[in-house]
Amino acid sequence: MNESKTEKKKKIIKVFVSLNREIIKTELCCACGACVAYCDGQDFNVIKMEDFTPQYKSNETKRNCTLCGMCYSICPQTDTLREELNESLKINNEIGHIDNLVIAKTTNSSIEKVAQDGGIVTTTLQYLFDENRIDAAIVSFYDKDLKPSPKIIFNKEALLKSAGTRYSISPQILPLKDLNKISQEILMDKGINEVDQLRVAFVGTPCQAKAVRKMQFLNLKPAHVIKYIIGLFCFENFHYDKLYELLEKETNFKPSDMKRTFIDKKFFVQTKDDKEFEVLLKNLDPAVRKNCLNCDDFTAKYSDISVGSVGASKGYSMIVIRNKKGQEIIDDLLNNNYIEKSSSPIEDINEWIEKKKSLFKRMISIKKKK
Ligand SMILES: Cc1cc2nc3c(=O)[nH]c(=O)nc-3n(C[C@H](O)[C@H](O)[C@H](O)COP(=O)(O)OP(=O)(O)OC[C@H]3O[C@@H](n4cnc5c(N)ncnc54)[C@H](O)[C@@H]3O)c2cc1C
Ligand code: SF4
Ligand code: SF4
Ligand code: SF4
Repeated sequence: MNESKTEKKKKIIKVFVSLNREIIKTELCCACGACVAYCDGQDFNVIKMEDFTPQYKSNETKRNCTLCGMCYSICPQTDTLREELNESLKINNEIGHIDNLVIAKTTNSSIEKVAQDGGIVTTTLQYLFDENRIDAAIVSFYDKDLKPSPKIIFNKEALLKSAGTRYSISPQILPLKDLNKISQEILMDKGINEVDQLRVAFVGTPCQAKAVRKMQFLNLKPAHVIKYIIGLFCFENFHYDKLYELLEKETNFKPSDMKRTFIDKKFFVQTKDDKEFEVLLKNLDPAVRKNCLNCDDFTAKYSDISVGSVGASKGYSMIVIRNKKGQEIIDDLLNNNYIEKSSSPIEDINEWIEKKKSLFKRMISIKKKK
Protein backbone atom coordinates (compact mmCIF):
# COMPACT_ATOMS: atom_id res chain seq x y z
CA MET A 1 0.00 0.00 0.00
CA ASN A 2 1.37 3.42 -0.99
CA GLU A 3 1.47 5.94 1.83
CA SER A 4 0.95 9.57 0.85
CA LYS A 5 3.78 12.04 1.50
CA THR A 6 1.72 13.81 4.18
CA GLU A 7 1.06 10.58 6.05
CA LYS A 8 4.78 9.78 6.02
CA LYS A 9 5.61 13.30 7.21
CA LYS A 10 3.17 12.96 10.09
CA LYS A 11 5.04 9.92 11.38
CA ILE A 12 8.48 11.53 11.48
CA ILE A 13 9.48 12.06 15.09
CA LYS A 14 12.06 14.80 15.45
CA VAL A 15 14.70 14.04 18.08
CA PHE A 16 17.72 15.79 19.60
CA VAL A 17 19.61 15.70 16.28
CA SER A 18 16.92 17.96 14.79
CA LEU A 19 16.74 20.15 17.91
CA ASN A 20 20.48 20.64 17.69
CA ARG A 21 20.40 21.47 13.98
CA GLU A 22 17.28 23.66 13.90
CA ILE A 23 17.38 25.44 17.27
CA ILE A 24 20.72 25.11 19.08
CA LYS A 25 23.19 25.54 16.20
CA THR A 26 21.11 28.38 14.78
CA GLU A 27 21.25 30.24 18.14
CA LEU A 28 17.50 30.12 18.58
CA CYS A 29 17.83 28.19 21.84
CA CYS A 30 16.77 30.28 24.82
CA ALA A 31 18.57 27.96 27.27
CA CYS A 32 15.42 27.27 29.25
CA GLY A 33 16.72 23.82 30.23
CA ALA A 34 13.50 21.94 29.41
CA CYS A 35 15.09 19.41 27.04
CA VAL A 36 17.80 18.47 29.54
CA ALA A 37 15.40 18.47 32.51
CA TYR A 38 13.07 16.07 30.71
CA CYS A 39 15.75 13.77 29.31
CA ASP A 40 17.88 13.61 32.46
CA GLY A 41 14.76 13.47 34.63
CA GLN A 42 14.02 10.10 32.95
CA ASP A 43 17.64 9.00 33.57
CA PHE A 44 18.24 8.56 29.82
CA ASN A 45 21.77 9.89 30.30
CA VAL A 46 22.08 11.57 26.87
CA ILE A 47 22.30 15.36 27.10
CA LYS A 48 23.52 18.02 29.51
CA MET A 49 23.54 21.82 29.68
CA GLU A 50 26.99 23.37 29.53
CA ASP A 51 27.70 27.04 29.15
CA PHE A 52 23.96 27.66 28.60
CA THR A 53 23.99 25.22 25.66
CA PRO A 54 22.29 21.81 25.55
CA GLN A 55 24.64 19.19 24.15
CA TYR A 56 25.45 15.48 24.29
CA LYS A 57 27.19 14.54 27.54
CA SER A 58 29.76 12.68 25.44
CA ASN A 59 30.03 10.79 22.15
CA GLU A 60 29.13 7.61 24.01
CA THR A 61 25.89 9.01 25.45
CA LYS A 62 24.61 9.78 21.92
CA ARG A 63 23.84 6.07 21.70
CA ASN A 64 21.58 6.24 24.76
CA CYS A 65 19.07 8.45 22.94
CA THR A 66 15.76 6.59 22.91
CA LEU A 67 14.55 8.68 19.95
CA CYS A 68 11.46 9.60 22.00
CA GLY A 69 11.42 13.10 20.49
CA MET A 70 10.21 14.79 23.66
CA CYS A 71 13.10 17.25 23.77
CA TYR A 72 12.01 18.55 20.37
CA SER A 73 8.31 18.64 21.25
CA ILE A 74 8.66 20.57 24.49
CA CYS A 75 11.23 23.08 23.28
CA PRO A 76 9.55 26.50 23.36
CA GLN A 77 11.38 27.45 20.17
CA THR A 78 9.90 24.69 18.00
CA ASP A 79 6.49 25.00 16.45
CA THR A 80 4.99 21.88 18.04
CA LEU A 81 1.74 22.11 20.06
CA ARG A 82 1.17 25.75 19.08
CA GLU A 83 -2.47 25.31 18.12
CA GLU A 84 -3.24 22.97 20.99
CA LEU A 85 -1.78 25.35 23.58
CA ASN A 86 -3.44 28.39 22.04
CA GLU A 87 -6.78 26.64 22.13
CA SER A 88 -6.47 25.38 25.69
CA LEU A 89 -5.21 28.73 27.02
CA LYS A 90 -7.57 30.82 24.85
CA ILE A 91 -4.65 32.66 23.22
CA ASN A 92 -5.67 34.46 20.05
CA ASN A 93 -3.42 37.50 19.91
CA GLU A 94 0.13 38.60 20.75
CA ILE A 95 -0.56 39.38 24.42
CA GLY A 96 -2.54 36.26 25.18
CA HIS A 97 -5.74 35.72 27.08
CA ILE A 98 -6.41 38.28 29.82
CA ASP A 99 -9.05 37.80 32.53
CA ASN A 100 -8.09 40.88 34.49
CA LEU A 101 -5.39 43.51 35.05
CA VAL A 102 -4.25 44.88 38.39
CA ILE A 103 -1.60 47.47 39.20
CA ALA A 104 -0.24 46.87 42.69
CA LYS A 105 2.80 46.74 44.95
CA THR A 106 3.93 44.79 47.98
CA THR A 107 3.12 45.99 51.49
CA ASN A 108 6.28 44.31 52.82
CA SER A 109 9.06 46.89 53.24
CA SER A 110 11.86 44.28 53.22
CA ILE A 111 10.68 42.97 49.85
CA GLU A 112 10.14 46.51 48.53
CA LYS A 113 13.84 47.31 49.17
CA VAL A 114 15.17 44.42 47.09
CA ALA A 115 12.46 43.81 44.48
CA GLN A 116 12.74 44.87 40.86
CA ASP A 117 9.41 46.68 40.60
CA GLY A 118 6.39 46.27 42.87
CA GLY A 119 7.74 43.10 44.52
CA ILE A 120 4.68 41.17 43.37
CA VAL A 121 6.57 38.03 42.41
CA THR A 122 8.42 37.66 45.70
CA THR A 123 5.33 38.58 47.74
CA THR A 124 3.22 36.02 45.86
CA LEU A 125 5.74 33.30 46.66
CA GLN A 126 5.90 34.39 50.29
CA TYR A 127 2.11 34.21 50.54
CA LEU A 128 2.00 30.75 48.93
CA PHE A 129 4.61 29.49 51.42
CA ASP A 130 2.82 31.16 54.37
CA GLU A 131 -0.46 29.54 53.43
CA ASN A 132 1.15 26.15 52.79
CA ARG A 133 -0.08 26.21 49.21
CA ILE A 134 3.37 25.35 47.88
CA ASP A 135 6.25 23.23 49.16
CA ALA A 136 8.86 24.76 46.90
CA ALA A 137 9.55 27.48 44.35
CA ILE A 138 11.93 27.77 41.43
CA VAL A 139 13.63 31.16 41.48
CA SER A 140 16.93 32.65 40.37
CA PHE A 141 20.01 33.69 42.34
CA TYR A 142 23.34 35.31 41.48
CA ASP A 143 26.59 33.46 41.89
CA LYS A 144 29.70 35.38 43.00
CA ASP A 145 30.25 36.67 39.43
CA LEU A 146 26.65 37.75 38.98
CA LYS A 147 25.89 34.75 36.79
CA PRO A 148 22.22 33.79 37.23
CA SER A 149 21.68 30.45 38.82
CA PRO A 150 18.23 28.84 39.13
CA LYS A 151 17.37 26.90 42.26
CA ILE A 152 14.50 25.06 43.89
CA ILE A 153 13.94 26.55 47.32
CA PHE A 154 11.86 24.91 50.03
CA ASN A 155 11.06 27.81 52.32
CA LYS A 156 10.51 31.54 52.19
CA GLU A 157 13.80 32.45 53.92
CA ALA A 158 15.75 32.52 50.64
CA LEU A 159 13.18 34.68 48.86
CA LEU A 160 14.73 38.08 49.61
CA LYS A 161 18.02 36.99 48.02
CA SER A 162 16.21 35.83 44.88
CA ALA A 163 14.28 39.07 44.32
CA GLY A 164 15.28 41.45 41.51
CA THR A 165 15.91 40.91 37.82
CA ARG A 166 19.00 39.22 36.40
CA TYR A 167 19.61 40.33 32.83
CA SER A 168 21.01 37.15 31.39
CA ILE A 169 19.70 33.63 31.13
CA SER A 170 18.79 31.74 34.24
CA PRO A 171 17.83 28.27 32.93
CA GLN A 172 14.85 27.99 35.26
CA ILE A 173 13.64 24.54 34.16
CA LEU A 174 17.04 22.88 34.59
CA PRO A 175 16.82 22.26 38.38
CA LEU A 176 13.87 19.94 37.72
CA LYS A 177 16.27 17.38 36.24
CA ASP A 178 17.28 16.55 39.80
CA LEU A 179 13.76 16.32 41.16
CA ASN A 180 14.20 12.67 42.07
CA LYS A 181 17.32 13.51 44.04
CA ILE A 182 15.44 15.66 46.56
CA SER A 183 16.23 14.16 49.93
CA GLN A 184 13.74 12.13 51.94
CA GLU A 185 14.44 14.50 54.82
CA ILE A 186 13.11 17.49 52.86
CA LEU A 187 10.04 15.54 51.72
CA MET A 188 9.31 14.38 55.27
CA ASP A 189 9.71 17.94 56.48
CA LYS A 190 7.01 18.89 53.96
CA GLY A 191 4.80 16.07 55.22
CA ILE A 192 4.88 14.15 51.94
CA ASN A 193 6.11 10.68 51.04
CA GLU A 194 6.87 11.02 47.35
CA VAL A 195 8.44 13.65 45.21
CA ASP A 196 5.42 13.50 42.85
CA GLN A 197 3.34 15.11 45.61
CA LEU A 198 5.52 18.22 45.72
CA ARG A 199 3.74 21.50 44.87
CA VAL A 200 6.05 23.96 43.16
CA ALA A 201 5.62 27.57 42.01
CA PHE A 202 7.66 28.41 38.93
CA VAL A 203 9.03 31.87 38.07
CA GLY A 204 10.39 32.43 34.59
CA THR A 205 10.55 34.36 31.36
CA PRO A 206 7.83 33.96 28.70
CA CYS A 207 9.81 31.33 26.77
CA GLN A 208 10.34 29.33 29.95
CA ALA A 209 6.65 29.53 30.87
CA LYS A 210 5.84 28.20 27.39
CA ALA A 211 8.18 25.21 27.80
CA VAL A 212 6.55 24.34 31.14
CA ARG A 213 3.09 24.53 29.54
CA LYS A 214 4.19 22.27 26.70
CA MET A 215 5.46 19.70 29.19
CA GLN A 216 2.26 19.92 31.19
CA PHE A 217 0.15 19.59 28.05
CA LEU A 218 1.93 16.29 27.35
CA ASN A 219 1.66 15.26 31.03
CA LEU A 220 5.42 14.97 31.22
CA LYS A 221 7.47 14.58 34.34
CA PRO A 222 9.16 16.52 35.88
CA ALA A 223 6.80 19.45 35.08
CA HIS A 224 3.93 17.64 36.84
CA VAL A 225 4.98 19.18 40.17
CA ILE A 226 4.50 22.76 38.95
CA LYS A 227 1.25 24.17 40.30
CA TYR A 228 1.69 27.88 39.56
CA ILE A 229 3.43 29.57 36.64
CA ILE A 230 4.43 33.16 37.31
CA GLY A 231 5.68 34.71 34.06
CA LEU A 232 7.81 37.84 33.81
CA PHE A 233 7.38 40.39 31.03
CA CYS A 234 10.51 40.15 28.89
CA PHE A 235 11.64 42.21 25.93
CA GLU A 236 15.14 40.80 25.52
CA ASN A 237 17.85 38.97 27.39
CA PHE A 238 21.64 38.93 27.17
CA HIS A 239 24.53 36.51 26.78
CA TYR A 240 26.20 36.47 30.20
CA ASP A 241 29.80 36.59 28.90
CA LYS A 242 29.20 39.27 26.29
CA LEU A 243 27.12 41.42 28.65
CA TYR A 244 29.67 41.51 31.44
CA GLU A 245 32.54 42.07 29.00
CA LEU A 246 30.73 45.17 27.75
CA LEU A 247 29.80 46.30 31.27
CA GLU A 248 33.37 45.89 32.44
CA LYS A 249 34.55 48.11 29.57
CA GLU A 250 31.91 50.73 30.42
CA THR A 251 32.48 50.76 34.19
CA ASN A 252 35.97 49.34 34.80
CA PHE A 253 34.39 47.03 37.38
CA LYS A 254 34.51 43.24 37.24
CA PRO A 255 31.25 41.30 37.74
CA SER A 256 32.57 40.06 41.09
CA ASP A 257 32.72 43.72 42.23
CA MET A 258 29.17 44.48 41.07
CA LYS A 259 26.13 44.14 43.31
CA ARG A 260 23.34 44.18 40.74
CA THR A 261 22.18 45.56 37.41
CA PHE A 262 18.78 47.03 36.62
CA ILE A 263 16.93 48.72 33.79
CA ASP A 264 15.08 51.97 34.33
CA LYS A 265 14.89 53.28 30.75
CA LYS A 266 18.72 53.04 30.77
CA PHE A 267 20.81 50.14 32.01
CA PHE A 268 22.32 50.68 35.47
CA VAL A 269 25.16 48.93 37.23
CA GLN A 270 25.41 49.16 40.99
CA THR A 271 28.78 48.17 42.47
CA LYS A 272 29.42 46.53 45.83
CA ASP A 273 30.66 49.88 47.20
CA ASP A 274 27.39 51.46 46.02
CA LYS A 275 28.68 53.39 43.01
CA GLU A 276 26.12 53.61 40.22
CA PHE A 277 26.89 53.66 36.49
CA GLU A 278 24.50 54.42 33.63
CA VAL A 279 24.97 52.50 30.40
CA LEU A 280 23.07 53.21 27.20
CA LEU A 281 20.97 50.18 26.29
CA LYS A 282 22.00 50.44 22.65
CA ASN A 283 25.65 49.98 23.70
CA LEU A 284 24.62 46.56 24.97
CA ASP A 285 22.96 45.46 21.71
CA PRO A 286 25.90 43.23 20.73
CA ALA A 287 25.18 41.12 23.84
CA VAL A 288 21.47 40.56 23.10
CA ARG A 289 20.72 36.91 22.40
CA LYS A 290 19.72 36.09 18.84
CA ASN A 291 16.78 33.98 20.05
CA CYS A 292 15.37 37.08 21.77
CA LEU A 293 15.43 39.15 18.58
CA ASN A 294 13.04 36.63 17.07
CA CYS A 295 10.78 36.37 20.10
CA ASP A 296 7.28 37.85 20.06
CA ASP A 297 6.02 36.90 23.51
CA PHE A 298 6.56 39.98 25.65
CA THR A 299 3.90 39.35 28.31
CA ALA A 300 4.30 35.65 29.13
CA LYS A 301 1.12 34.43 27.46
CA TYR A 302 1.47 30.92 28.87
CA SER A 303 1.53 31.76 32.58
CA ASP A 304 -1.15 31.89 35.30
CA ILE A 305 -0.14 35.46 36.13
CA SER A 306 2.34 37.66 34.28
CA VAL A 307 4.18 40.49 36.01
CA GLY A 308 6.08 43.44 34.58
CA SER A 309 6.60 47.15 34.95
CA VAL A 310 5.28 48.38 31.61
CA GLY A 311 2.01 50.22 32.21
CA ALA A 312 2.57 50.71 35.95
CA SER A 313 4.04 53.74 37.69
CA LYS A 314 7.46 53.52 39.40
CA GLY A 315 7.51 51.10 42.32
CA TYR A 316 4.36 49.31 41.13
CA SER A 317 3.85 46.19 39.01
CA MET A 318 1.45 45.47 36.20
CA ILE A 319 -0.20 42.12 36.89
CA VAL A 320 -1.87 40.29 34.03
CA ILE A 321 -4.28 37.66 35.33
CA ARG A 322 -4.69 34.83 32.84
CA ASN A 323 -7.09 32.43 34.56
CA LYS A 324 -9.17 31.57 37.64
CA LYS A 325 -6.14 30.27 39.54
CA GLY A 326 -4.32 33.56 38.93
CA GLN A 327 -7.36 35.61 39.97
CA GLU A 328 -7.70 33.66 43.22
CA ILE A 329 -4.09 34.31 44.22
CA ILE A 330 -4.28 38.03 43.48
CA ASP A 331 -7.62 38.34 45.34
CA ASP A 332 -6.11 36.54 48.33
CA LEU A 333 -3.00 38.74 48.27
CA LEU A 334 -5.19 41.86 48.24
CA ASN A 335 -7.68 40.62 50.85
CA ASN A 336 -4.87 39.60 53.21
CA ASN A 337 -3.01 42.89 52.71
CA TYR A 338 0.09 41.29 51.22
CA ILE A 339 -0.19 43.73 48.32
CA GLU A 340 -2.02 47.03 47.73
CA LYS A 341 -3.57 48.39 44.57
CA SER A 342 -2.33 51.57 42.93
CA SER A 343 -4.54 54.63 43.43
CA SER A 344 -4.64 55.01 39.63
CA PRO A 345 -6.18 51.75 38.39
CA ILE A 346 -6.81 50.85 34.75
CA GLU A 347 -10.18 52.43 33.87
CA ASP A 348 -11.02 50.38 30.80
CA ILE A 349 -9.32 47.01 30.41
CA ASN A 350 -10.34 46.54 26.76
CA GLU A 351 -8.98 49.96 25.83
CA TRP A 352 -5.73 49.12 27.67
CA ILE A 353 -5.43 45.83 25.80
CA GLU A 354 -5.90 47.48 22.39
CA LYS A 355 -3.33 50.20 23.17
CA LYS A 356 -0.76 47.75 24.53
CA LYS A 357 -1.27 45.34 21.64
CA SER A 358 -0.12 48.00 19.21
CA LEU A 359 2.68 49.17 21.55
CA PHE A 360 4.04 45.64 21.91
CA LYS A 361 3.76 45.05 18.15
CA ARG A 362 5.85 48.18 17.58
CA MET A 363 8.40 47.12 20.23
CA ILE A 364 8.71 43.68 18.67
CA SER A 365 9.16 45.02 15.15
CA ILE A 366 11.90 47.43 16.38
CA LYS A 367 13.63 44.48 18.00
CA LYS A 368 13.43 42.35 14.87
CA LYS A 369 15.21 45.08 12.90
CA LYS A 370 18.20 45.11 15.30
C1 LIG B 1 15.51 39.15 31.21
C2 LIG B 1 14.33 39.94 31.69
C3 LIG B 1 13.88 41.03 30.94
C4 LIG B 1 12.78 41.78 31.37
N1 LIG B 1 12.32 42.81 30.59
C5 LIG B 1 11.25 43.52 30.97
C6 LIG B 1 10.74 44.59 30.18
O1 LIG B 1 11.28 44.90 29.10
N2 LIG B 1 9.63 45.26 30.61
C7 LIG B 1 8.99 44.93 31.79
O2 LIG B 1 8.00 45.56 32.15
N3 LIG B 1 9.46 43.94 32.57
C8 LIG B 1 10.56 43.23 32.19
N4 LIG B 1 11.03 42.19 32.98
C9 LIG B 1 10.33 41.87 34.24
C10 LIG B 1 10.78 42.78 35.39
O3 LIG B 1 12.17 43.00 35.34
C11 LIG B 1 10.43 42.14 36.75
O4 LIG B 1 10.96 40.84 36.83
C12 LIG B 1 8.94 42.07 36.97
O5 LIG B 1 8.38 43.35 36.81
C13 LIG B 1 8.62 41.52 38.36
O6 LIG B 1 8.97 42.50 39.30
P1 LIG B 1 8.75 42.21 40.84
O7 LIG B 1 9.24 43.41 41.61
O8 LIG B 1 7.37 41.73 41.07
O9 LIG B 1 9.75 40.96 41.02
P2 LIG B 1 10.65 40.54 42.25
O10 LIG B 1 9.82 40.43 43.47
O11 LIG B 1 11.86 41.39 42.29
O12 LIG B 1 11.05 39.05 41.81
C14 LIG B 1 11.69 38.81 40.59
C15 LIG B 1 11.68 37.33 40.33
O13 LIG B 1 12.25 37.08 39.07
C16 LIG B 1 13.21 36.02 39.17
N5 LIG B 1 14.23 36.26 38.14
C17 LIG B 1 15.17 37.22 38.14
N6 LIG B 1 15.91 37.17 37.03
C18 LIG B 1 15.43 36.14 36.32
C19 LIG B 1 15.80 35.57 35.06
N7 LIG B 1 16.79 36.06 34.32
N8 LIG B 1 15.10 34.53 34.61
C20 LIG B 1 14.08 34.01 35.34
N9 LIG B 1 13.69 34.51 36.55
C21 LIG B 1 14.37 35.55 37.02
C22 LIG B 1 13.73 36.15 40.58
O14 LIG B 1 14.27 34.96 41.05
C23 LIG B 1 12.48 36.55 41.36
O15 LIG B 1 11.75 35.42 41.75
C24 LIG B 1 12.14 41.43 32.58
C25 LIG B 1 12.59 40.34 33.34
C26 LIG B 1 13.68 39.59 32.90
C27 LIG B 1 14.15 38.40 33.71
S1 SF4 C 1 16.18 10.43 24.70
FE1 SF4 C 1 14.43 11.60 23.95
S2 SF4 C 1 14.55 13.50 25.16
FE2 SF4 C 1 16.57 12.52 25.31
S3 SF4 C 1 17.80 13.41 23.67
FE3 SF4 C 1 16.87 11.51 22.88
S4 SF4 C 1 14.99 12.23 21.85
FE4 SF4 C 1 15.67 13.86 23.23
S1 SF4 D 1 14.23 23.12 25.22
FE1 SF4 D 1 15.10 25.05 25.93
S2 SF4 D 1 17.26 24.56 26.35
FE2 SF4 D 1 16.45 22.91 25.06
S3 SF4 D 1 16.91 23.53 22.95
FE3 SF4 D 1 14.86 24.26 23.40
S4 SF4 D 1 15.16 26.36 24.12
FE4 SF4 D 1 17.15 25.32 24.23
S1 SF4 E 1 12.94 37.84 24.84
FE1 SF4 E 1 11.76 35.99 24.51
S2 SF4 E 1 13.27 34.41 24.05
FE2 SF4 E 1 14.36 36.12 25.03
S3 SF4 E 1 14.44 35.54 27.19
FE3 SF4 E 1 12.67 36.90 26.87
S4 SF4 E 1 10.99 35.46 26.51
FE4 SF4 E 1 12.86 34.29 26.24
